[in-house]
Amino acid sequence: MRSCDVVVIGSGPGGYVAAIRAAQLGARVVVVEREELGGVCLNWGCIPTKTLIYSAGLYSEMQQAAAYGIEVKDPKVKMPALIARKNEVVKKLKSGVAGLLKAHKIEVIKGHAQVAAPGKVTVGEQTITAKAVIVATGSGPGQLPGMETNGKTIITSTEALDLVYVPKRVVVIGAGALGAEFACIWNAFGAQVTLVEMLDTVLPLEDEELTKRLGAIFKKRGIDVRTKTSVKKVDADKKGVHVELDGAKKGAVEADVVLVGIGRTFHSDVVAKTPSLGVKLGPKGEILVDRHMETNVPGIYAIGDVVGKTLLAHGASAEGLVAATNATGGKRAMDYRVVPACNFTSPEVAHVGLTEKQAREAGVDVKTGRFPLTASGRALAMGHTDGLVKIIGDAGTGEVVGVHIMGAEAGELIASAALAMTMEATVADIAHTIHTHPTLAEAMMEAAEDYLGVGIHTMPPKK
Ligand code: FAD
Repeated sequence: MRSCDVVVIGSGPGGYVAAIRAAQLGARVVVVEREELGGVCLNWGCIPTKTLIYSAGLYSEMQQAAAYGIEVKDPKVKMPALIARKNEVVKKLKSGVAGLLKAHKIEVIKGHAQVAAPGKVTVGEQTITAKAVIVATGSGPGQLPGMETNGKTIITSTEALDLVYVPKRVVVIGAGALGAEFACIWNAFGAQVTLVEMLDTVLPLEDEELTKRLGAIFKKRGIDVRTKTSVKKVDADKKGVHVELDGAKKGAVEADVVLVGIGRTFHSDVVAKTPSLGVKLGPKGEILVDRHMETNVPGIYAIGDVVGKTLLAHGASAEGLVAATNATGGKRAMDYRVVPACNFTSPEVAHVGLTEKQAREAGVDVKTGRFPLTASGRALAMGHTDGLVKIIGDAGTGEVVGVHIMGAEAGELIASAALAMTMEATVADIAHTIHTHPTLAEAMMEAAEDYLGVGIHTMPPKK
């Protein structure tokens, strides 16, 4: 029997961050992890995908090198080397997490944990008692009826990250962040990609003005985008996979590989398999928590994907900081008002705050400002002019309610919009901030100026 102050189950960006913060606050902390330190994000999510995306971008640039005045002869993709590099990046970061946990004197126990009672966690034969439990068990790929994955030809993102070859023909089911990112990777590497999405646009949760443009860019690049289309049937045999589609772009598509990029299952069995606990779950199996990240059972907290709120690594970490504070006697509430997100497609699409549609539905007196990257000196110099910055403000107060960016480095640029929103800045505050020239970041200032009707590099309305 071990005893500690806080036991954290799961070591993803939710769990390990919560564990470190609890230790910083003076708690004796134990982390239980059944697979790899760093969780999905580090091992099978954010980091490996971004490593492949970087290679895909580099390869595309090399193919267009002549346009930049550089001769590159016949660049070739070597998938085994690329996957090996991805594994090295993951390994390095994983040892970084292990080092941090060790430095904070956090004990890591390997195994499958189960919450047996409030303050009591079992791992096989071992029992750990603690004042508080933080469940950070995350989520896994969803299995859809009739589209069960077989790990070889019908796969999830986990297997896709270890493919040591570029499939000739791929069908990607779901054009959310995960599906759209893989569609871009395979498209860049020369695969014939069909991207299927039931809703009206690719990246259906993003601002429509941007996603309509992104869909057009995808099509121009040769991705067969089939929105408003659903999958009727998926049949795998020795020759490949036969996919039947229904809806706006119905028909049959033959593929070598099908990526099922929709749906997540929440790893709530860690509490659900102990019914006597009485921890409440939501309709999708997510663990229900209050603003303090506490479940209905005092002393049992839950954070990250398993609570089904942001499904983002940094969302999990932010929730982890809140739970760690509360689990060690403090009082903090989670604020979801400013949670930036980026889809690392090509070009990237990032946002913070509300889309124009959401703002209207929320009764905001919507006013918008825009700046196209075709007018940005830096974007032109880089040869990456596909994109725009769009600012949504409240016409009454002038406060920023949403920022949407499509273009190179959108994921980096959205951070300053998140800071602006955290500081409750007005659009005028952004317009009055002197930005470095020539940078992509200037486009934010220009969009703010456009909002105010004083854009220097925006064409005036025709009289
Ligand atoms: P996880 O990272 O899922 O970690 C949970 C951990 O708990 C796992 O290690 C698991 O082994 C362990 N565990 C589960 N049950 C038990 C148990 N009973 N006992 C012991 N251990 C247990 N998010 C972004 O913000 N940016 C991105 O670019 C991004 N890209 C992504 C790309 C892909 C392909 C995928 C799949 C996801 C991506 N995400 C991205 C989402 C991100 O990975 C998750 O939001 C994040 O990992 C959630 O963190 P978490 O700590 O809640 O859980």
